[in-house]
Amino acid sequence: MIPYGKQEINQADIDAVVDVLKSDFLTQGPQVPAFERALMGVADASYALAVNSATSALHIACLALGLGEGDRLWTTPITFVASANCGLYCGASIDFVDIDPATYNLCPQALEQKLIVAKRQKCLPKVLVAVHLCGQPCDMKAIHALSLEYGFKVIEDASHAIGGRYLDQPIGACEYSDITVFSFHPVKIVTTAEGGAALTNNKKLADKMVLYRNHGITRDEAYMENASHGGWYYEQIDLGFNYRMTELQAALGVSQLSRLNEFVAARHKLAERYCKRLAGLPLTLPYQLPNTYSGLHLFVIRLHLDEISKSHKEVFDALREAGIGVNLHYIPVHLQPYYQKMGFKLDDYPKAEAYYANSISIPMFHGMTYGQQDEVISKLKAILKG
Ligand SMILES: *Cc1c(COP(=O)(O)O)cnc(C)c1O
Repeated sequence: MIPYGKQEINQADIDAVVDVLKSDFLTQGPQVPAFERALMGVADASYALAVNSATSALHIACLALGLGEGDRLWTTPITFVASANCGLYCGASIDFVDIDPATYNLCPQALEQKLIVAKRQKCLPKVLVAVHLCGQPCDMKAIHALSLEYGFKVIEDASHAIGGRYLDQPIGACEYSDITVFSFHPVKIVTTAEGGAALTNNKKLADKMVLYRNHGITRDEAYMENASHGGWYYEQIDLGFNYRMTELQAALGVSQLSRLNEFVAARHKLAERYCKRLAGLPLTLPYQLPNTYSGLHLFVIRLHLDEISKSHKEVFDALREAGIGVNLHYIPVHLQPYYQKMGFKLDDYPKAEAYYANSISIPMFHGMTYGQQDEVISKLKAILKG
């Protein structure tokens, strides 16, 4: 089976992890800060906090922004459930903004329409999670302008987008957002096995997230309520979690990150080849927003079902049977049973549902050979014809 996504681990990655195993620190040593410095360099942000998953990063990002009971978090329905669940962890309620049918990202016009109504009804969101689906950046300038007008905070869920660029800045620079989150799950662009990070240019937000990552405990006297009792002293000044990344993970991250540009460039070569060789077939190829560079985590095609004799499911199943590990990103979050119980219904977000009805993620990973890619292409062509 050719998977839809896969990590690439080389000898340098293995050596980096083995070196940590032989060192004094398996956790809370020098590798995590080194990984964080490397992330700041890649993303051009002032602060980076490595954590044990992007889900944890989203959670502490929401907490740092003050999201709580009675507040609202808005996001896109076409994302992994974690982009919405983070709001629920904080006791907030969730709502969705339908997608732009060209980019598949949250649509700024739909957002504005929804904000106008919400303002009238006094139910504006506190936090918006903008997801760069497949690595394609959201229209961050438009979202940022609306955030200033309507007074909400913005988290970029850049789980798909490390190594990409928006206008003249790397994803993660947080020019148009408060916090950006990366994921280092093995299917993503850079991996630490499990892992994530939160980046920001705001020291107060960074300080809060440092606290939430580690039980709400501080050893910094500047933040303590009482005078120190001695060298052993620390204070818990808030309720936090154990969301720390290990040294093994961080060492792998440093090693992987040194090849980030290579990884993304390889993905772009594969995307170009797909676009050339799939042109003319009854499907829509990915669109790219002008002046942006995708991290290309995923390559999504949309079938023109009125031009082929098979259903969406039949094409998907035939590809899987032919050894092509296709997937579908994502089932709209509002259609998940857990969200349906909150009152979301079919037809709530028609563009997201239309996307779900004909999309397929075909294999895209930087280690894919042209031979493997040609197999994907020929199988897909045969299945669409048959
Ligand atoms: C993978 C992913 C997450 C969660 O990442 P983890 O590191 O697995 O917690 C969140 N949002 C999006 C869009 C993702 O693709």
